[in-house]
Amino acid sequence: MEYTDVLIIGGGFGGLTAAGLLSRAGKSVTLLEASNEWGGSAGKFRRGDYIYPVGATLGLGFQEPHGLHYRVFNHLGIPQPEKTLLTTVMDVHSAGFSIRVHADMDTHIQHLCRVFPEISDRIQDFYRLVAKTGDIFLSLLKKAPVMPPKTWRDWKSLLASADGRAAALVPYYRKTVTQVLGQFQLDKHYGFMQYINGQLLDSMQASADEAAALLGLYGLAIYHQGSHYMKGGLYRSAESLAAAVKTNGGQAVKRRTIEKIYRNNGRWEAVDKRGRLFAAQDLVLNVPVQALPSLMSDADFTAMGGKWQKRSRTSIWSAFSMYGTLTEAPADTPLFQQIMWGPENAFEKEHMFVSLSEEKDTLRAPGRERTFTVSTHTSPERWKNKASYDEQKQQTLEELKQILLAQTGWSGALTSLLPGAPHAWEHYIHRPDGMVGGFPQTSRYALFNSLSHRTNLPGLWMCGDSVFPGGSTMAVTMSGIHVYESITGSRFYKEEQI
Ligand SMILES: Cc1cc2nc3c(=O)[nH]c(=O)nc-3n(C[C@H](O)[C@H](O)[C@H](O)COP(=O)(O)OP(=O)(O)OC[C@H]3O[C@@H](n4cnc5c(N)ncnc54)[C@H](O)[C@@H]3O)c2cc1C
Repeated sequence: MEYTDVLIIGGGFGGLTAAGLLSRAGKSVTLLEASNEWGGSAGKFRRGDYIYPVGATLGLGFQEPHGLHYRVFNHLGIPQPEKTLLTTVMDVHSAGFSIRVHADMDTHIQHLCRVFPEISDRIQDFYRLVAKTGDIFLSLLKKAPVMPPKTWRDWKSLLASADGRAAALVPYYRKTVTQVLGQFQLDKHYGFMQYINGQLLDSMQASADEAAALLGLYGLAIYHQGSHYMKGGLYRSAESLAAAVKTNGGQAVKRRTIEKIYRNNGRWEAVDKRGRLFAAQDLVLNVPVQALPSLMSDADFTAMGGKWQKRSRTSIWSAFSMYGTLTEAPADTPLFQQIMWGPENAFEKEHMFVSLSEEKDTLRAPGRERTFTVSTHTSPERWKNKASYDEQKQQTLEELKQILLAQTGWSGALTSLLPGAPHAWEHYIHRPDGMVGGFPQTSRYALFNSLSHRTNLPGLWMCGDSVFPGGSTMAVTMSGIHVYESITGSRFYKEEQI
């Protein structure tokens, strides 16, 4: 049996961040990952000469000096990943409009006003609030406050994080994004709402009707605070973090699928599917909450409390993805595109996010070739029928292909296409029922109602997109920081030199 100070299960960005910081702080750390890739939902797979990001592609939080990933890499003393700052974040297409999302907020607002001239004054007023919320959040996040606050230290840090400007956001706390848009008389404008819904679905996993206003406003600002194309893919950052664990004396091991965890004489033990046993004083789970019932004994899971049990039964979005290769993309093709085709809100099967590799990113494809990843939200319930699963997969692939080709004009250049249905997310990334992306950022699940990185069980911690602050590589990085702070008693931001 191997014994370490801290055992971490799951090599997604949450677990990698916790492992990197803890090993750097002198803890003996073992990080175990079930698959043969680092990065989980932000990892990659390879087919011959081609590399495809499995899910996450857009680099958020890598900007200097405040981006959370940037800060973690700095803290660990490892080189920042190779990346390109985007001036155009993405193009958004629907039947009614095409919008270029400029990284520069003022340029973006001017562009939106040209697309929707009849509501331009109201758009400007609304986006002033978006920009202000974005600034306040950026400053709040510097101290990585813990939510929901449980200890005096959490409250102190939360209050210390909030500068005087944060008080201006209090009136929005209980509102949804649609209610705030209503204040600006924008909530009835079909095209503008369709655009906002598309942006929120990708960043918040919720529509404007559901998304908590504070988070939704921040979600609209975040793309303008530094969006990057990551050379090769986000997986390279994940690999750098795993390497940092080893450099600091820790172990980072792939192909170790943990099947059970339990308590034994005041310490935690975990057994993998080959019967190998690992033990530690502290155990960090970087797995979705839906995986806990099968990992833990009934008694331990019951001791976690009703909130954890309820969340473990809560169904969230899954993804259908499509991976492909092009001989060459038409000139000026944006690296990121959102395509909407539904008659109503940008929901299931009505919305997709398309990410193309940068020209001459030979880590992704040789020569002038390019690879792309497309993803769309789908509900896990649609994929429960095993008899129709394969047929449904082929049909969905064909539908998405037709929409993609019609919108992008890539038809002549397309050389291969692969599907990634919910079962693939379950099989390769170990997400129960293929559920990904964390809970929707609604008042029901977010902020004071989110799950904490702390649990009721001594020495057991959670990170990843099931706990505060939710989904995105940047958000789960924050949960990894919280685990690091709780185990070591240190404060990440105080140790920084920025
Ligand atoms: C299609 C899609 C597109 C996205 N796009 C973006 C984007 O562009 N930008 C962005 O910032 N975010 C994006 N996200 C969100 C982001 O990828 C995730 O929120 C984040 O990567 C989740 O990290 P995590 O550490 O919580 O979990 P995961 O990435 O799911 O990692 C968990 C890891 O734990 C391992 N594991 C699970 N169970 C076990 C076990 N029993 N034993 C050992 N190992 C185990 C898994 O194999 C996995 O590697 C996207 C997500 C999806 C699905």
